[in-house]
Amino acid sequence: MTTVARSPNLTAPEARRRLAHERDSRLTQLSAIEAGAALADKELSSAQAAAIRRVLTEISAAEDRVADGTYGACQRCGSGIPVERLEILPYARYCVGCQQKS
Ligand SMILES: [Zn+2]
Repeated sequence: MTTVARSPNLTAPEARRRLAHERDSRLTQLSAIEAGAALADKELSSAQAAAIRRVLTEISAAEDRVADGTYGACQRCGSGIPVERLEILPYARYCVGCQQKS
């Protein structure tokens, strides 16, 4: 067998890299919205900007969890969040089961 077993969790540097990438893309979206806000629908723009700011807060919280070693563990049930989920949503707080219950 030449395949390497996948880690059940993202490594801290990998998690940080993904979170930094997420932040960059949100900040780009945010500045595009703010630049277009004068022309576009103001209410829609501010709703979008608020949603992006919430994600940025989640990204910062996820970075804190990387720092304290709790990243990748569901904050409700404590089980590991599958790496496939973290690849899609690197700032996920909960496993899929708990997310659906919330
Ligand atoms: Zn859970």
